[in-house]
Amino acid sequence: MNRRMLGNDALTLVFRPRPAWMADAACAGATEVMYPAVRESDRRRAPYQAALDVCAACPVRAECLAEVLSYDDIGGGTIRHGVWGGTTPWQRSVWRRTGQLPELEC
Ligand code: SF4
Repeated sequence: MNRRMLGNDALTLVFRPRPAWMADAACAGATEVMYPAVRESDRRRAPYQAALDVCAACPVRAECLAEVLSYDDIGGGTIRHGVWGGTTPWQRSVWRRTGQLPELEC
């Protein structure tokens, strides 16, 4: 967990019960891969490819994506950093504004 995770994201995770599906997460122990040092506004796939590959093989991707998008429904505490459910921070920021998950650029 990097310092940026210690804001609203961390508080959200603390106050929400840990979902049962997380026991099957393919990214367990892969924090460095899932949180690449990339600007949140980056629209490219390449910087996130390693993390996206982990998500593509994850048996609980659908549950994870539903969970991370649900954080937006309660306002505040949005998971703004890293790859979750096969989505990047930029994709989720667009989703928050439009309800659409955009395609990544190359
Ligand atoms: S979909 Fe990705 S972020 Fe979510 S649990 Fe699976 S590997 Fe982790």
